Amino acid sequence: MTKTQAPDGPAGDRLDAVVVGAGFTGLYMLHRLLRSGYSARLLEAGSGVGGTWYHNRYPGARCDIESMDYSYSFDDDLQQEWKWNERYAPQAELMRYLNHVADRYELRPHIALDTTVTSARFDETTTTWAVTTQTGETVTARWCLMATCGNRAKVRRHAERTRRRAQR
Ligand SMILES: Cc1cc2nc3c(=O)[nH]c(=O)nc-3n(C[C@H](O)[C@H](O)[C@H](O)COP(=O)(O)OP(=O)(O)OC[C@H]3O[C@@H](n4cnc5c(N)ncnc54)[C@H](O)[C@@H]3O)c2cc1C
Repeated sequence: MTKTQAPDGPAGDRLDAVVVGAGFTGLYMLHRLLRSGYSARLLEAGSGVGGTWYHNRYPGARCDIESMDYSYSFDDDLQQEWKWNERYAPQAELMRYLNHVADRYELRPHIALDTTVTSARFDETTTTWAVTTQTGETVTARWCLMATCGNRAKVRRHAERTRRRAQR
């Protein structure tokens, strides 16, 4: 059954924004929205934040540009306090960094993990997005921001694995 979910307010409330994806892009979008006073919810298919670096854990995975350049520059304090251990950060260090960002800017209460978006429909009459997840829940918002990069095949496989596991 489809129901309307308003995670940050009373049932039926429309959020300002729904962000899809908890990689570098989505975490920053969520932070900017919240910092600017908007209500926002981030939906992420994976079981953790990190995006590319959550999904790709093969031995030797690391960024191919210098860690300093592959990190956020929106906050001087964050840049000063975070010490990169390696010039080209490995996957585990990138994950620590992105988890630190999620904690530091108190993003987690606004993030729903294990939540795959299956459709996003715009109602022109009410100028509202209805974003539906694999559980059949629908979140409504004025804006829908896709921060899903190019990992759709990976997410489909992840969703399929999750569905099969749930059926066992
Ligand atoms: C193996 C690998 C190595 C890379 N190395 C580098 C590098 O060294 N330097 C560089 O500059 N770039 C690199 N990249 C590119 C990298 O993707 C970007 O640098 C950056 O991490 C992209 O961030 P993002 O937030 O835009 O997207 P992502 O990190 O891909 O995050 C997208 C998120 O959206 C989620 N998502 C997708 N569809 C849905 C849905 N329907 N519902 C809910 N959630 C969904 C995914 O689960 C994912 O967590 C690499 C990419 C890969 C795959």
